[in-house]
Amino acid sequence: MSVPQFQEVAPGTFVRRHSELDLNCGLVVGSRRALVIDTRSTTARGEGLAAAVREITPLEQVVVNTHAHYDHCFGNAAFRDSQIYAHVGAAASLQRTAEHQRSQVVEHLRRTERPDLAQTYVDTEVVLPFYLVDDEVTPIDLGDRTAYLLFGGRGHTDHDLVVAVPDVSTVFWADLIEQGADPAMDDSFPLEWGATLARLQEHPHVRDAQLHVPGHGEVVEPAFIAQQRATLSALADDLTSALAAGVQDVDGLVAKTRGLGLTDSTLRDAAVRTLETRSGAAEVNAAP
Ligand SMILES: [Zn+2]
Repeated sequence: MSVPQFQEVAPGTFVRRHSELDLNCGLVVGSRRALVIDTRSTTARGEGLAAAVREITPLEQVVVNTHAHYDHCFGNAAFRDSQIYAHVGAAASLQRTAEHQRSQVVEHLRRTERPDLAQTYVDTEVVLPFYLVDDEVTPIDLGDRTAYLLFGGRGHTDHDLVVAVPDVSTVFWADLIEQGADPAMDDSFPLEWGATLARLQEHPHVRDAQLHVPGHGEVVEPAFIAQQRATLSALADDLTSALAAGVQDVDGLVAKTRGLGLTDSTLRDAAVRTLETRSGAAEVNAAP
């Protein structure tokens, strides 16, 4: 398997797309510091990423974990000397779920006869992010340029951070946007995700951006973001109408949400999460 290279998608702005899970990591290089966006899924893979970063810049590294899913932050140990930023909810989630996430991946890899890879997960030390933010906007000064961590509300998780780099008109969306596969619903808030995207799209650092990097898949254009937002907003509308009509079960919700271009498996996950999270969502919807 060939080693992935960082591709410079805009001046001083790089994307490294990995074969495992089609994961994208980002790198934004200033005059004093460089921002690394997500750290991959194991310490060994994180070390590979760190080496790739050093080929591009010797500057001090700052890291952001966009959210607490293992594929985005289990490589943190390779960056333990750096400031690691995340939303306060990401640190809490990682603390609560890391061992469960690890055991699920290890079990899956052993079942599919990849024991060596499974062992790299066993050997991985989970390092929690410790520069925790909960503001809507957190500027990261890199020297001569600033990257902004944006929190727009609940969506793929309850703590997704987006990274906007306005001087090159670029946004790293993490898993709030996914190319090549449906948005992943397992920990999501399906009734709120579309509205969160809408809020973020209106942000001055995002509004005019031309280059959009999803958490997984190809770099996309603004039309793709608009399309995914429309799909997720339509999903929320369909779910809301179905709940209002008294639909209370997963099969019923799936039947009411077909036709949006999402697979039944995605709709099923969305339905499960809707039923799990709707008391909080009902409060939001009940607001005048
Ligand atoms: Zn994720």
